[in-house]
Amino acid sequence: MRTHAQAVVIGGGVIGCSILYHLARAGWTDVVLLERDELTSGSTWHAAANIHGLHDNTNISRIQHYTMQLYRELEQETGQGCGVFQPGSLYLAQTEAREHQLRLQAAKARLYGMNFHEIGRDEAERLHPLVDFDGVRCIMYEPDGGNVDPSGVTAAYAAGARARGAEIHRFAPVTATEQMPDGTWLVRTEKGDIRADWVVNAAGLWGREVARMAGVELPLQPTEHQYFVTETIPEIAAMDRRLPSVADRDGEYYLRQEGQGLLVGAYERDVRLWAEEGTPRGFGHELFADDLERIEENMMRAIERVPAVGEAGIKRVINGPMIWSPDANVLFGPVPELSNYFCANGIIPGFSQSGGMGLMAAQWITEGEMRHDLFAWDVARFGAWAGPAFTRARVRDQYAHRFAIHFPNEERAAGRPVRTRPVYETQKAMGAVFGLNYGWEHPLWFADAPGTEDTLGFTRQNWWAPVGEEARTLRERAGIIDISNFAKYRVAGPGAHDWCEAVFANRIPAEPGRSCLAPLIGKRGGIAGDFTVTCLAPEEYWIIGSGLAERYHSRFFREVPLPAGTVFESLTDSHCGFNVAGPESRALLQNLTGASLATPDFPFLRSKRIEVAGVEVTALRVSFTGDLGWELHCREDDQLRLYEALLEEGRALGAAPVGSRALMSLRIEKGYGSWGREYSPEYWPQEVGLERLVKLDKPFLNRDAAAETMGRPAREALRLIEIDHAAAEASRADATGGEPVFHEGRGAGRVTSGAYGYAVGRSLALGFLDGVAPGAEVEVMLLGRPHPARVLPQAPFDPQGARLRA
Ligand SMILES: Cc1cc2nc3c(=O)[nH]c(=O)nc-3n(C[C@H](O)[C@H](O)[C@H](O)COP(=O)(O)OP(=O)(O)OC[C@H]3O[C@@H](n4cnc5c(N)ncnc54)[C@H](O)[C@@H]3O)c2cc1C
Repeated sequence: MRTHAQAVVIGGGVIGCSILYHLARAGWTDVVLLERDELTSGSTWHAAANIHGLHDNTNISRIQHYTMQLYRELEQETGQGCGVFQPGSLYLAQTEAREHQLRLQAAKARLYGMNFHEIGRDEAERLHPLVDFDGVRCIMYEPDGGNVDPSGVTAAYAAGARARGAEIHRFAPVTATEQMPDGTWLVRTEKGDIRADWVVNAAGLWGREVARMAGVELPLQPTEHQYFVTETIPEIAAMDRRLPSVADRDGEYYLRQEGQGLLVGAYERDVRLWAEEGTPRGFGHELFADDLERIEENMMRAIERVPAVGEAGIKRVINGPMIWSPDANVLFGPVPELSNYFCANGIIPGFSQSGGMGLMAAQWITEGEMRHDLFAWDVARFGAWAGPAFTRARVRDQYAHRFAIHFPNEERAAGRPVRTRPVYETQKAMGAVFGLNYGWEHPLWFADAPGTEDTLGFTRQNWWAPVGEEARTLRERAGIIDISNFAKYRVAGPGAHDWCEAVFANRIPAEPGRSCLAPLIGKRGGIAGDFTVTCLAPEEYWIIGSGLAERYHSRFFREVPLPAGTVFESLTDSHCGFNVAGPESRALLQNLTGASLATPDFPFLRSKRIEVAGVEVTALRVSFTGDLGWELHCREDDQLRLYEALLEEGRALGAAPVGSRALMSLRIEKGYGSWGREYSPEYWPQEVGLERLVKLDKPFLNRDAAAETMGRPAREALRLIEIDHAAAEASRADATGGEPVFHEGRGAGRVTSGAYGYAVGRSLALGFLDGVAPGAEVEVMLLGRPHPARVLPQAPFDPQGARLRA
């Protein structure tokens, strides 16, 4: 066994082997995989191993497509069979919402050149004569869908890695991982120790235990999961081809051919968690006792759809463990608080994603960043707030609703509230409908009756009209938006200015009271973040950014050492904030403060520490609404007092509380981008209109990468699009993000955010378009169907920024 390696991968399931293979393929051949038992000894060996290409998230779709193509290449490259069957998959829609979801996916497939299209009932019956298609509204066909042999795939990755020089040691359980003073890792096993630059935790069912060896708590929880295989079905035995698999998600089961019978698996409502206190060390190639009663309802729906299932006897039942994160996506990437510790844990569709996941891990480890934006996978999307109770509640909910449609704007209630602010009960009594933002409850909108919940769908829902009221109230008078969920940081000490300069791409003001908008640049020169940086006092800065990305951004902040005597602290927990905005916001606030808010005394992009209603606040004259407004940040203890005073004073002026859903509409009316949608490491500054904020004539984090990307022509441009009013009205729908855009019959780009612009009376979208000039006519695929639209030359609300500076 080697004593030194560039990377040690812990775990020889399908994911660990794929990461090892892709590291070796990227040229890191001095790599080792350690497996405590035989390869595949976790969830891998007993998986049904179905493979699908389509996913609601476009980048995950790309990854799944890469994976499906890779299996055949792997077979050729290694000579190891992967047992690939690709007879296709049929996706059935029984409800209108499912039809919208499938049509949207088909539109995306057309844009990205993926194989997924609608077929008629006749063709579907020809493809799968055992299915009864009654009651099915629409059928999509994915010709590449199918399944693989889990052990074959794992062995092929292992063979490909070994052929490139990687070492694999079976029966070598890792007993400890210790970081050395020089930053390298000491990986201890019973067979000897290895010093490694990187550690990769791909320990599947034991992901929690392996993470704990490095002092990391991962929000993971295993469950049981069952499928069964029928005896031979004569019609199948008589066929000279393989049947496509059936994705009847409304029926909440999956079904495919296995041998000469059928395999049916189910995600039942009566979920069984397993190993809540930890996965037993000695658990190996074992299964749980069959419990088909638990999946009876799902089975009955499968039998209704495919009667042959009910007629055949059951040959084999598999009830095995799989391990979940709170949102059913992998916990992926370097752990922000450690250096060179990578995790890839909690993977449910391991066989659809193994290849792309290995590729992304190898890119991140060897090149410093993935080429795709995959925040949906990033381990940093959860913090310490995602403790065991939250994780268990979310996993139960995710499992039970595995095949439910995840609608735009959907907020699931399970496990909440986790973190609340002092105004929470007051807002609740006012009818607030809350969303979850990095653990915090924050008001999305205010309903007439407390206890109201969002209805769900791709069309306009119960919140649409009340959110419109809020948006118009703000534009016409004033609104009070709780922005406590924004991330807030303070940097103070003799090197505070230098540190901010060294981190952010814009020039940082040294004069107290001045603020600037400052992008953070990623390793490849894309937009890793957008912040407001404010000089509050000499060598004292406040930085405000996306709350969702607090842990994600900590990776970047850690890269720049703090000068001696300078401190960096997060104020997110200890401080709360309100954005008071709209034409009457000045009058509202002026009645509560002795400080002059007149523009000559308090211009746009300036800040002051002032008292509002007797509460000390840091006031910034900025507003994401694009309107006249101030952000007021106070200590958490003062939040309720400040809120009550703002509401009370606002009442006389016709001001009202406004939720974050209205804020999304207001910022789109102004064409403002938002982190995670328009701003991501995948996009370059000149593609999102932020190039003027990137000062290449000074050093900053990843400056050379920015210089390189900014020296190239933009690949596409961020544009505002107006969807034809009558068409949006007829569909009762607005864009939500992800919808493809076509221009003169060709794919031109995609929507990143959409909303109805209530104050301007137009259905709007922001999106990246290639080769489409303002004024051009395009088609936006709302609900998967073309809707005429036009690219706008400028923001429909206050394009010159007169209101902002008023
Ligand atoms: C019943 C069932 C059906 C499924 N069907 C599908 C499907 O149809 N399609 C699909 O895509 N996915 C399916 N899955 C999920 C799929 O099995 C997983 O996504 C995948 O196997 C996860 O692989 P992994 O490598 O992350 O983890 P694992 O397979 O759990 O591998 C982890 C490995 O790490 C090793 N290890 C643990 N601790 C240590 C240590 N200390 N030192 C060294 N090694 C260690 C373990 O022995 C194990 O071999 C199914 C799962 C189940 C249970």
